[in-house]
Amino acid sequence: MSKPVLTLEGLSKFYTSATNVVVGLNNISLSFSRGEFVAITGESGSGKSTLAHVVGGILQYESGELYFAGRPTSHFDGRDWEHYRRDNISFISQNYGILLSCTVLENVINALRLSGMEKQDARREAKKILEKVELWELRSRRAAKLSSGQKQRLSIARALAKPAPILIADEPTGNLDPENSAKVISLLAEAAKDRLVLLITHDFSEAEDYVTRRISLQDGRIIMDATLRPAAEPSEQPAPAPKKKQALSLYAARLQLTGRPVWCSVVLTLLALTAFAVFAFLGTFIVALDDTNTRHYDNSAFRNGEPTRIVVQRSDGKNMTPEDYEKLLDFSYVESLECSGYIADVNCYYIKGEHYRASYHLVNVGSAVDPIYEQRETAEFLDYSHFAQTVPLMAHGEFLTAGRAPENLHEAVVVGDESRIGETFTVYLQDRKHWSISYYIPVQVTVVGVTNYGEGVYLHSEVGQMFRQVAMSGGWMCMPDDELKGNEMRFMAGLYDPKDIGSTVLFGKDPVTLQGLHTISCPKLVQVSREKFDEMFSDSGLGMQVSLTLSNYAYTDRVLEAIQRSGYAALSPYRMGSTTRIDSLVAERTRTLVICGAVLLVVLALQMLVLRALFGSETENYRLLANIGLTCASAQRSVLWQVLAFTAMGQAVGFAGLWYCYRAGIERIVSIIRYLPPHLMGVLSLVHLAAALIASLWVARALRKRVYPMFVRRDDLKLDEGEAEA
Ligand code: ADP
Ligand code: MG
Repeated sequence: MSKPVLTLEGLSKFYTSATNVVVGLNNISLSFSRGEFVAITGESGSGKSTLAHVVGGILQYESGELYFAGRPTSHFDGRDWEHYRRDNISFISQNYGILLSCTVLENVINALRLSGMEKQDARREAKKILEKVELWELRSRRAAKLSSGQKQRLSIARALAKPAPILIADEPTGNLDPENSAKVISLLAEAAKDRLVLLITHDFSEAEDYVTRRISLQDGRIIMDATLRPAAEPSEQPAPAPKKKQALSLYAARLQLTGRPVWCSVVLTLLALTAFAVFAFLGTFIVALDDTNTRHYDNSAFRNGEPTRIVVQRSDGKNMTPEDYEKLLDFSYVESLECSGYIADVNCYYIKGEHYRASYHLVNVGSAVDPIYEQRETAEFLDYSHFAQTVPLMAHGEFLTAGRAPENLHEAVVVGDESRIGETFTVYLQDRKHWSISYYIPVQVTVVGVTNYGEGVYLHSEVGQMFRQVAMSGGWMCMPDDELKGNEMRFMAGLYDPKDIGSTVLFGKDPVTLQGLHTISCPKLVQVSREKFDEMFSDSGLGMQVSLTLSNYAYTDRVLEAIQRSGYAALSPYRMGSTTRIDSLVAERTRTLVICGAVLLVVLALQMLVLRALFGSETENYRLLANIGLTCASAQRSVLWQVLAFTAMGQAVGFAGLWYCYRAGIERIVSIIRYLPPHLMGVLSLVHLAAALIASLWVARALRKRVYPMFVRRDDLKLDEGEAEA
């Protein structure tokens, strides 16, 4: 007889639990060679399966020694046992051990591929084997549809596909009728010609005519070891399993997915839903972190707290240049630029009855000493939420839809249709920061152009220059008047006596001619000739401060940051002025944060649990693949691949859903998408991915515990068996 392939020397196996110890194998010494076909018999519970599993490298033994090809194995660690099983053991069990969702042919090819064979060779070899077990005709039938006899023959075919020197069959005929049993036994006998076949059976009679040796167990001891006929002389060593480095995790992952459309769609739906939920809840959470809108707006610094407004100055304090305008308009989300940033804080009233009420007063057009009264229309203001604006520079698109831009103080553009061109009305301007509440300037304007951008009235840039002057001169303000020439000026009635008209007075240090007295209710306003106006403002050029309008408040942080990074000073008046808390809004925001945070955690925890449960159903498949030779690492990696693939697809589907909601205008989603810059969107995907990965690690760990017990510390294993029993 040839050299023994397996030798057991005083080998014992105990099953220990918290309360007692069960003897599985008791001091067994045996020796097996290739060519032997050994029947292992005994009552139920005598230790047959234990022996098969110990020899098969599936269970560890506690004492004694198991030699494989003369080499001891007691020092083996999990990886060594894995290689031992992969290279040396084929296992057939009562419940077939085949992939039910795959076809007959695929089952055999998979076994061959998992043992490292190339695709083409595997097909050729599979045909040979399937012809041997008489299943070639049924090669494209799904394994689930086979009869039990056919399944067991397929299981043998799968075992034969692996060039392992030891084939262990644990009660392979347990579910079969006598006819099929006989077929199976004869196939095993055939297989024993060049390997060791251990047949575990409680019915020796069916194998009697084939086996070369019979071993009988009782209570884990050998009670009989009889040689019945000479063993076959194996002609040559079976080809050792190719030692190709196995990169089979992807292959295994694909295998898990084929033929399971329902399972796949469930996992995909789960991950799409969680991707959507992470976006919605974490997104809302991040949006709610901005607490600006839980506060009152305090307008002492900027009267106009329009949320979409951003105020910009050069950081060197110099006036803006046209290049600056270009640059600022180029920033994303900037819609328009108001060159005279200052006037965005000047109140503006233009709708009679709504913005202001007209009343009639007697106004003194004479001097204090010699009053002359005239009846005038004066305004009383009702709605302070409107502010002046000049024709803005647009980042995209045209500003005017019809007509032309204003060319002087008395022309304007309004929002509306063409029919409004030619309308005239009065615009009241009021700098409430520098003037007392009763001061204002009425400006008669004629509509020369219309737009559909924004709202209200857009004035000529001269208005901007006038008001900039207020801020720079302690409240004094000049307004051009085409009737005046050269050094002529008009001051407010009451400051001078009407009889002084025509004389020279001082304006600052400049001597000017007092040309008349105006009755506008603003003591700090002087009217000057256009020449004088141009002369006074020519050197001040463009203003220092501009106002940008963003397409949405949500972009504030991003735009501020980008503008500041390129060297400007920028701020959001709305943010600046939002100071005092509104308790009810604060409470509401806190509630939103807590709910979103909690829901997010629940969603992620659920995702973990459901993923684990879903992948738990793969355990059986993995056990089979492990028997065929899939390593623990490959199995775990294949779980990772699956989860990654599903997460990526789930996110794609989830984001498609979001896009749909965005297009449909669902407000919550729209506001999140607006608010979150792309990198934060990335963070959301990463959070979702990380949660899925953590779940997959958990699944992989459970898989290792269940399928690769050799890799698990003893304590873990016991725990797991306890679980299984419970
Ligand atoms: P057989 O296959 O001959 O029916 P086994 O090898 O399955 O017998 O079992 C041998 C003995 O070991 C029995 O007493 C059985 O109860 C015990 N045993 C088997 N598996 C376990 C286990 N996982 N934990 C505890 N005891 C076990
Ligand atoms: Mg058994």
